[in-house]
Amino acid sequence: MQIKEILKLTPEGQSIVVKGWVKTKRGQSNIVFININDGSTLKNIQAVVENGKISEDILKLATTGSAIAVTGKLVASAGAGQTMEVLAETIEVYGTADESYPIQPKKHSLEFLREKAHLRFRTNVFGAVFRIRHALAYAVHKFYNEQGFFYLHTPIITASDAEGAGEMFRVSTFEPNKAPLTPEGNIDFSQDFFGRETALTVSGQLEGELGALALSRIYTFGPTFRAENSNTSRHLAEFWMIEPEVAFFELEDNMNLAESFVKYVISYALENCKEDLEFLENRLLEEEKQKPQNERSELKLIEKLKFVVENDFERLTYTEAIDILLKSKPAQKKQFQYEVAWGIDLQSEHERYLVEKHFKKPVILTNYPKEIKAFYMKQDDELNGAPGATVRAMDVLFPGIGEIIGGSQREDNYEKLMARVKEVGIDPENIWWYLETRKFGSAPHSGFGLGFERLVLFVTGMTNIRDVIPFPRTPKNAEF
Ligand code: ATP
Ligand code: MG
Ligand code: MG
Ligand code: MG
Repeated sequence: MQIKEILKLTPEGQSIVVKGWVKTKRGQSNIVFININDGSTLKNIQAVVENGKISEDILKLATTGSAIAVTGKLVASAGAGQTMEVLAETIEVYGTADESYPIQPKKHSLEFLREKAHLRFRTNVFGAVFRIRHALAYAVHKFYNEQGFFYLHTPIITASDAEGAGEMFRVSTFEPNKAPLTPEGNIDFSQDFFGRETALTVSGQLEGELGALALSRIYTFGPTFRAENSNTSRHLAEFWMIEPEVAFFELEDNMNLAESFVKYVISYALENCKEDLEFLENRLLEEEKQKPQNERSELKLIEKLKFVVENDFERLTYTEAIDILLKSKPAQKKQFQYEVAWGIDLQSEHERYLVEKHFKKPVILTNYPKEIKAFYMKQDDELNGAPGATVRAMDVLFPGIGEIIGGSQREDNYEKLMARVKEVGIDPENIWWYLETRKFGSAPHSGFGLGFERLVLFVTGMTNIRDVIPFPRTPKNAEF
């Protein structure tokens, strides 16, 4: 039985087996207390070893970090912070851990634990983060299932670069030193996948649209890859993305879906991960105490999550946002490293100003300049006060994070899409299948991509994206 289940029992001296890893062991010669955790819950269960009950040789092996099974009686406990404990009768040590075990019963820094990523799962903080990550992933499927969406598996190996940002990882089947060469003597990458140029997907959107234009409502939830050779706290080379795509949906419907989706999954975590969230909240409060008073955040983690669930997101156009940024007080304007002007791709400092200082709530920005957005976004017919052409794009921005969702209504007019494809320099031959959907029963449709790790960052209150994915892939970091 897992510890999570044991803790639901009424302790009345029944026989029980507890299996897990030793968190702490303390005690005197006549009595020893061993705290055990099996990862099923944040909570430990305490085994009490009375004088002489277990041989010294076995007790010696049951060190911090070792894997053990304790058999004994489940009894009520008078100890603070626990309602029950196990009176040990036998202990089996599956695997001991020597003094070099790095996860000792003290607070380790997250930087240190990133170096020990193979063992950091054993800490309270990473146990909590990954249990919450699991709950959020489950809630994603639950939400879309309830809304009549089908989970469509889009390919990992693909020939289409949806974002056109040149951040794709090539897939190569070449044998070392046997790669075909171009007449100039360079490796001919146009043949890298058994004679066809391919790469790892940066987004399942283009393929997802094919599904939506038949099944009406689909979503993908899979790994995506971007060769971002930068070290930010918001970018990974491998991250998980959730991408719904919906037929007969306009931009407004898309915004409504995004907002209700995010609220749903956060509510799910609030309801189902109370203990882990409280633990992370307390951890953050300890950290806040180290900061000067004026830099401490106003809201506690759980209040912050509830605020997002209970309040409408602010919605405005990119053009209106630029106006706000331009009118921001000189002191704050100076804060911007990148100059503000209509047409710029907003930097995270701009996004965070809007969300954290100006509106103090999540924001959905729409109708971005056409030039800074991908080719597939639907072009606006009217300028609506903007000084240049815009597209029906929407980005959802979150406090502490910046962009969490990027989406749009898709261009459904064949001629307009074709013209745009050529304008940005994509070879129409490469996406002939995508273009063809606009020839046969084209329909208005929309969708978006939510970066799953950015959501997990927000919900857990962690600040570095490397700490919310089990195996972070960042430049030079791919060992395990
Ligand atoms: P950013 O501006 O932060 O680089 P983007 O605009 O390049 O993001 P999109 O192509 O719009 O990203 O992808 C949709 C979502 O995927 C983003 O809103 C974000 O939540 C997430 N995302 C994008 N790139 C990464 C990455 N390298 N690591 C983690 N999440 C990412
Ligand atoms: Mg990017
Ligand atoms: Mg962006
Ligand atoms: Mg984006």
